[in-house]
Amino acid sequence: MADLWRYSSAVSETRQERLLSVHSFSSVIEQIHQDMSILCYHIQQCDDDSTYARPVFSVCVSKNTFDNFFNSPAGYRGSYFVSPFYGLQCNRQLFEELLPALSSWAIKNAPGYKTEFAQEALLAVSAKAWLAECSMELCHACYGEWSCPKNCQEEIINGRWEVSAGPNSRFGSIAPRHSKIRFFGAFLNARGDEFIPVRKRQRAQQLHDDGWS
Ligand SMILES: [Zn+2]
Repeated sequence: MADLWRYSSAVSETRQERLLSVHSFSSVIEQIHQDMSILCYHIQQCDDDSTYARPVFSVCVSKNTFDNFFNSPAGYRGSYFVSPFYGLQCNRQLFEELLPALSSWAIKNAPGYKTEFAQEALLAVSAKAWLAECSMELCHACYGEWSCPKNCQEEIINGRWEVSAGPNSRFGSIAPRHSKIRFFGAFLNARGDEFIPVRKRQRAQQLHDDGWS
């Protein structure tokens, strides 16, 4: 798949070389693990139904780690590019491997942290990782970094995202440089039922088709 994936000249050659040399999603997880500072933990109520809530962690990583995670063919969006199923598998692996670190941080630093709820939500099928969108922040520490750019310069060229006509496709082929990653658990209620907002039910397919959701 990686041979279909290249970058436009808007991405410097040194950066392209680094991004294309990332060899596996496991190595991306390892980088995040080594590199991350955990910023905060929140429980966020669901706008659609307030009986559901989700745990949200925000972490900060180096710009290159973020770049490898978000913009490399072996990274997070890259895994969904391969197939929606492979993306979901990598998503699960990411949460399984980072959960112990997130949990032990929260036990020490987040009063009222419920280990069982957080574990269940972070390993549920709709748990997801994403960049820190502006206006989605829950405290000063997790202040957003990304907002809709006015001009979307094509940076990732993989034969699909830059030609897609999907609703979010104009963002898919950009390769933003940031340093915060948000980890969202699934929305769960007191019984442990999972709620997936209708606009997010096709997330894996949207990431596959458009590179964005
Ligand atoms: Zn926060």
